[in-house]
Amino acid sequence: MTADHPPSADFKANLAAVRAALEAALKEAGRVRAVEIVAVSKTQGPEKIRAALIAGHRVFGENRVQEAKSKWPALKAEFPDIELRLIGPLQSNKAAEAVALFDVIETVDRLKIARALADEIARQARAPRLLVEVNTGAEPQKAGVHPEDADAFIRQCRDEYGLAIEGLMCIPPADEPPGPHFALLAKIAARNALSVLSMGMSADYAVAAQLGATHVRIGTALFGPRNPA
Ligand SMILES: *Cc1c(COP(=O)(O)O)cnc(C)c1O
Repeated sequence: MTADHPPSADFKANLAAVRAALEAALKEAGRVRAVEIVAVSKTQGPEKIRAALIAGHRVFGENRVQEAKSKWPALKAEFPDIELRLIGPLQSNKAAEAVALFDVIETVDRLKIARALADEIARQARAPRLLVEVNTGAEPQKAGVHPEDADAFIRQCRDEYGLAIEGLMCIPPADEPPGPHFALLAKIAARNALSVLSMGMSADYAVAAQLGATHVRIGTALFGPRNPA
């Protein structure tokens, strides 16, 4: 749908188009399920985000702690029911800020991060929900635990650090069909009794929904092109 319906400047219209495409994809797959749309607002300025909030949207994703910190505290004060999700890599020296600001952290992928998050969750008495990022394509430059290490990592997060992992997240390789990666993520989630699957972006959210996504992370199809960094 993204190719033949380029996003308009109107968030509300774009959201309706994405929702319709999601519903059509689910219907085609014979699935009846709610899929949460995470509006990825990285690089977008406050005016565009405010328009999305006024349109009634409340679930947003950002990929940098610093950028989110400069944009969201004021908006959260004004719209207290916002759900803010960290979808980019987390450094352990940013764990305190991430725990303070985000409601969900989707990118737990190293024991060092798991430990830093556990410490901050105890210290701040604030517990963001957590997903483990899986590098389904085992790409060297990409964050995430490798698929064959995922079960052990999830177990360690739970048993050694007492973290309540609720699901998995992935970003498939850009140059491969995403379906097998989404299917692999769903399989790892099922055998670890995890119910949340964050997968699918503007180009491939329909496929992700058909393969079990509970959350799709959509930037350009909702907000239009990103601003340069
Ligand atoms: C930027 C980003 C997205 C959204 O990408 P679009 O192609 O604009 O929809 C989704 N997930 C992650 C992790 C991102 O960094």
